[in-house]
Amino acid sequence: MNDAGSETPSSPSPPPAKPSASHRPPAPRGRLVLDHVHKRFGIDGTLALSDIDLSCEAGEFVVFVGPSGCGKSTLLNLVAGMVSPDQGTIHLDGQLVNGPGPDRAMVFQEPGLFPWLNAAQNIEFGLKMANVDPAERADRVAAALRMVRLPHSGKRLVHELSGGMRQRIAIARALVVDPALLLMDEPFAALDAQTRTILHQELQEIWCGTNKTILFVTHSVGEAVRLADRVIMLHTNPGRIRRELLIDLPHPRNFDGPEVSEIVRVVRAEIEEEVNRVDRELAESHAGGAASGHLAADRGPVGSRL
Ligand code: ADP
Repeated sequence: MNDAGSETPSSPSPPPAKPSASHRPPAPRGRLVLDHVHKRFGIDGTLALSDIDLSCEAGEFVVFVGPSGCGKSTLLNLVAGMVSPDQGTIHLDGQLVNGPGPDRAMVFQEPGLFPWLNAAQNIEFGLKMANVDPAERADRVAAALRMVRLPHSGKRLVHELSGGMRQRIAIARALVVDPALLLMDEPFAALDAQTRTILHQELQEIWCGTNKTILFVTHSVGEAVRLADRVIMLHTNPGRIRRELLIDLPHPRNFDGPEVSEIVRVVRAEIEEEVNRVDRELAESHAGGAASGHLAADRGPVGSRL
C-alpha cells in the first residue's frame, strides 16, 4: 500500500464538480464574520493580529498564506474559540464566538488520534461525548469512513495506518459531528508530496460533497491556489491582511493547468516581497551597518523560506 493508503477499489464515486465561487448558491450554514479583530500576546502586549476585518460566505473555501509568524494559526485559534480577541468580535451564523463549540471542528498537522482506540472509535469519540445514540453513531461513522475512502479500515489501530490514512481519519473525526465550519491548520504539512497531492484532490471532493465552509492555513502557495475560492495573504509584524485574491476556477482543479500555475506565480511573488521586507527590517534592527549586510548575505536567495 502506498502512504496515501486509500482503499481505491471500493472508493465511492466522486461527487459532481463544484462550479467556481461566483456561480454557486450559498450553503445554508457557515457564514463567518470577523469585525476589527485585534490579538495581543505576552506581557509586552505584542500585537499578533491587527484589525482583521473579514467575511467568509457559507460554503466558501478560504486559504490563509503568509510567512511564519504572521498570525495564521492565531486567526484559526480565535475562530475556534480557543483564544479570545482583545478587541473586535467574531460571529458564526450570527452567533458570537466566545469559546469552542460543536459548530466548529479543527484538523491539525498532527492527527492527534487516540492510539488505544481503532479508527472507527476515534471517529466516533465526539458523537459518544455528545450522547448520540449507538445506532446513529454507527451509521455516521460508516458514512464518514466512506467519505474519506477508508470504508473497510474502521477496525485498524492507529499504528496500522499510514500517515495519509491517519490524516483522513482526523478529517472524518472532524466532519462526523457535522460542524458548520472546518478549520484546518497546515493539515498536510507533515505528509510526503505524493500523499499530499492525493489528499488535495480528496479534500476538494469532500468539500464539493459536503459544502462546508473551510478555513485552511498553509505555508504553501501551490496548496493555497489549488484549494481556495479565495486566498488571503497576511503581512507580518503585526499580522494583518495584505491582499485577497479570488480564484475563480471550478473544482476539482487541474493542478497542472496554466491558470493555476499563473496564479501561483503571482501569489508567490507577493509573499517573497513580504518575506524580504521582514528580512530587511530584521537586518536593519540588528547591529546595523556591516553586520546587517553580513546577515543579509547569509540568508540565501530571495524568498527561499517559502
Ligand atoms: P503563524 O501561524 O503565521 O506562523 P502564529 O499565529 O503562530 O503565526 O503567531 C503569530 C505571532 O503571535 C508570533 O509572533 C507568535 O510568536 C505569537 N504567538 C502566537 N501564539 C502565542 C502565545 N500563545 N503566546 C505568545 N505569543 C504567541
